[in-house]
Amino acid sequence: MNEQVKLIFEKIKEYDKILIFRHFRPDGDAVGSSKGLATLLKNTFPEKKIYLQNADFAEYLAFLGGEDELLAPEEYADALGIVVDTATQDRISCKNYSLCKELIKIDHHIPVQSYAGLEWVEEHRSSCCEMIAAFYDELKTELKMDEAAATLIYTGMVTDSGRFRFREVSPETMRLAGLILSQGIDTEWLYANLYMKEYHTFKFEGYVYKKMQISKNGVVSMFITNKMKKKFGLSSEDASAAVSYMDSVKNSLVWIAFIESDDGAIRVRLRSRFLPISDIAERYRGGGHACAAGATVYSKAEMKALVKEADEKLKEYKMAHEGWL
Ligand code: AMP
Repeated sequence: MNEQVKLIFEKIKEYDKILIFRHFRPDGDAVGSSKGLATLLKNTFPEKKIYLQNADFAEYLAFLGGEDELLAPEEYADALGIVVDTATQDRISCKNYSLCKELIKIDHHIPVQSYAGLEWVEEHRSSCCEMIAAFYDELKTELKMDEAAATLIYTGMVTDSGRFRFREVSPETMRLAGLILSQGIDTEWLYANLYMKEYHTFKFEGYVYKKMQISKNGVVSMFITNKMKKKFGLSSEDASAAVSYMDSVKNSLVWIAFIESDDGAIRVRLRSRFLPISDIAERYRGGGHACAAGATVYSKAEMKALVKEADEKLKEYKMAHEGWL
């Protein structure tokens, strides 16, 4: 058995209270892994107090169910905290995580910071939910899986792997997905929830196709202003989805959405095919995975500089490689 899995399970058995944390602005993997693990542990240990402790939520994932109320800070002192899908402390949604007696980290991001006493980090995994599935696989005889837990875990596996499309998807991913799927998930219901969009969102999608820009070497980008959000009636989450609309432009291996926030900061969502771009994100107050990263900029000049860096990098990549599309 994986040594980290064994140690984590021993800790879980030791504690009566377990608090589960994830990163802010949660995606399908953050929600799926936090809620999936919570459900799995609640099924297995009905006598334990197991709570999700997160300060924010994603409206578009509301179909996955609700959240627990935040506990008073003094309630953390005797708890085991488990943080899933979060590489760095500053991205943990609920800041009280540090009050837990002990902390565990389960993550699949590039390990830039160590913040827990016990850490299980596997960068090659296509999702954190894949790690929760692996955790279950190792402890099948001890853990109680059900359809609800499986649906949550499968959702993260599906969403963070781009519907099993990204390179990180391995035979092991598919084996674990099969194991989770065998719990009887209603995949048609799940995909309907993942794909259905509001009418105004389709209108916005059309607008993105009209307005997106392409640099000399093929970086596609779009700045989504607060004014546009208002015009199309978009939430920040709706606006942020624009990055995925730009993902299949021929000759473009890098695509970037800049999303204006109310406080003046501009959220940057960077995506790429074949070449890593997380180093660029790191230079602009961010980080993430090699080909899916995030950052923050504060001006049009910074946006321009970031696109220029990406364009240079893409130029070098195209000169040095063949076979890109
Ligand atoms: P996003 O574009 O927000 O979906 O982020 C893509 C990936 O980069 C996710 O795995 C995030 O956890 C990570 N990420 C986003 N923003 C940051 C940041 N400011 N610092 C570190 N990692 C980030």
